[in-house]
Amino acid sequence: MNRKVKRVVVVGGGTAGWLSAAVIKKVIGNAVEVELVESDAIGTVGVGEATIPPIRLINNVLGLDEAEFLRETNATIKLAIKFENWRVKDEGYFHTFGAPGQSYAFCHFHHFLKRAQMELGETSNIWDYDLNYLAAKDNKFAKINSKDPIVDLPYAYHFDAGLYAQYLRKLSEKMGVVRTEGKITDVTQHPDSGFIDLLHLEDGREIQGDLFIDCSGFRGLLIQQKLNTGYEDWSHWLPCDRAIAIPSERLEHTLPYTRSIAHTAGWQWRIPLQHRNGNGHVYCSNYMSDDEALQILSGNLDTKPLADPNFIKFKTGRRRKQWNKNVIAVGLSSGFLEPLESTSIHLIQTAVVRLLHTFPHDGIKPELVAEYNKQSQIEFEQVRDFIILHYIANERDDSQFWRDMRTMPIPDSLRHKIELFKEDGRLFRENNDLFLEPSWLQVMMGQGIQPSDYHPMANNMSPEKLQMMLQTLKKIKEEPLQQLPSHDQFLKQFCGR
Ligand code: FAD
Repeated sequence: MNRKVKRVVVVGGGTAGWLSAAVIKKVIGNAVEVELVESDAIGTVGVGEATIPPIRLINNVLGLDEAEFLRETNATIKLAIKFENWRVKDEGYFHTFGAPGQSYAFCHFHHFLKRAQMELGETSNIWDYDLNYLAAKDNKFAKINSKDPIVDLPYAYHFDAGLYAQYLRKLSEKMGVVRTEGKITDVTQHPDSGFIDLLHLEDGREIQGDLFIDCSGFRGLLIQQKLNTGYEDWSHWLPCDRAIAIPSERLEHTLPYTRSIAHTAGWQWRIPLQHRNGNGHVYCSNYMSDDEALQILSGNLDTKPLADPNFIKFKTGRRRKQWNKNVIAVGLSSGFLEPLESTSIHLIQTAVVRLLHTFPHDGIKPELVAEYNKQSQIEFEQVRDFIILHYIANERDDSQFWRDMRTMPIPDSLRHKIELFKEDGRLFRENNDLFLEPSWLQVMMGQGIQPSDYHPMANNMSPEKLQMMLQTLKKIKEEPLQQLPSHDQFLKQFCGR
């Protein structure tokens, strides 16, 4: 247990494996050797194309040139997700990476707007004050270098995750990560501690390590198959358990947002890349057969399919301990929340950063492991609650799935949040929640949860000043729009595509 960690072995070469290897090598590569084992025969899950803005941080730490990254991964810009048919059919709303308006004297913008709506007959909504929304709906984008934080356009990417993993592999190998190709067929544990000592490959080779990062995907080769860590099953809250993915030809105009389109027992993603569209249908097998799900997806592709359907099974939930003995599960082996808010690659990123902060240079101490596991649990639960919100707050009456989703029991943590918001729009960020107040606000309102009142702090302004504030903010948010090129023009200018 107290053995110094000198050799880190990453098991798996999907997005989780290569991102972990690259970041560990980049940040503490002078102190540890990193080896990655992957099996070409097993391959990767082959989906996962939408991200959220913190990916830009990790790309910066890795020193990636943004234009090169966009070219290498066929990436496009993502400003938001558009949720269609989620509250009711034929209606949609955006969850953007921006923020509506601006807080004033500790009071969030939406309280002022609510007061104006209630007292002054104001008809605008929160999205009218959000540059991300305005740019997304007009299909525009540019990198904005404004000194004024309210004139900002936070963004993430859609990319080909397979190409991203290859790109990270090139970078990792250049930095000195050793790649070993081969199938792990056996694992030796220390007889006393149960720590993993050796990986045995099919052809007889052996790989020794002090710390193992299990990025072996859903199978959880070390964390589950060897250490039997257990899984907290969340399918009573997030019952979708299947996905079908089909790439199709690219659309003529590249949208700067993901589309999430609800169907009768799940939802469909549509992700625009430079060279193709990513499409997938996430559904619940208790309510829909694979054939029906495939039919719905095939009938809703805007463009010609480019490959056969890829069928994927999953169970939502999390590994009971994401760090167990000398194994840390990262990526799909650590748990899975359906891809509704594009959080999986982000959870890989936070897992690796958390590992760096708790890195056991001088040996694996129980306190470090406990801290890592506590933080991981909080993070997964927060994301889980945010995703459940999309399902629970629906008003669809056209299928049993949506009726059951509306009435299912939900975690107390989420119920508490909804109750606070319903009353007078109060939102609180706890424990570094990945989703800030503007995210909760947009999804609550988009799903039809309206506060019945506003916070009295919003009364601290005359009606005239309130009206002036709204007009000014709207103008400030709209002004940059004229200068923005289309998303396609941006891609062409910035990375030659
Ligand atoms: P995998 O890609 O499955 O890689 C596993 C690796 O382990 C492979 O290299 C394999 O060869 C290796 N391996 C396994 N067993 C052995 C063995 N015995 N010997 C040697 N090597 C072995 N994420 C997002 O952020 N955004 C999204 O939009 C998104 N959409 C998704 C949609 C769906 C339907 C699903 C299922 C996931 C989605 N994800 C998304 C998640 C994303 O795909 C994954 O988080 C990401 O690809 C990481 O996968 P991974 O590296 O953990 O596993």
